[in-house]
Amino acid sequence: MTSVDDPRHIALVAHDNKKAELLRWAEFNSGTLRAHVLYATGTTGTMLEYELGLPVIRFLGGPVGGDQQLGAKIAEGTIDVLVFFWDPLEPQPHDPDVKALLRIAAVWNIPVAYNVATADLVISSPLLANGYRPIRPEIDPGALEKMPLS
Ligand code: PGA
Repeated sequence: MTSVDDPRHIALVAHDNKKAELLRWAEFNSGTLRAHVLYATGTTGTMLEYELGLPVIRFLGGPVGGDQQLGAKIAEGTIDVLVFFWDPLEPQPHDPDVKALLRIAAVWNIPVAYNVATADLVISSPLLANGYRPIRPEIDPGALEKMPLS
C-alpha cells in the first residue's frame, strides 16, 4: 500500500454497464486507493467494499439521490477527485443528475476521470500523492444574477 501523508478524497461512481470496468481498475489500483479516503454512490460503493475490501463512505444509490449527494460534497469542497465511469451508450433514468454531477465538478475545478485511460493518468499522477488540491475558483455569489437572460 502506498502511504501518503495527506490523503486525497476520491469519489467513485460507475453506471451499471461500467461497473465491471471500474472494479477491474480499482482492483489494479487498490493499493493506491487504500491510502486515500474513498466515497461512492450506493451500488458502486457496495461493490468496492465487498469485492475488494476497500473502506468506502457510501451515499444513496446514484439514481435515487447518490449523485446529488456527491455533487453537494463537491460543492462543499470535500472531494478532490471524481472517478466517474458514466455510460455513453445508454440513456439513464437519472440523466439530469448525471449532468448535474459533471457540471458541478466543472464549476469547482475538480478533476474528473470518465474512463480507464483518464483514471490511469489521474491515479498515477505524482501530484495525487503530494497533497495536490484543485484550486477552488472564487465564485461571486451574484455572478449568476448578472448573467444576461437569452
Ligand atoms: P450506483 O449509482 O453506484 O448506486 O449504481 C451509480 C449511478 O448510476 O450514478
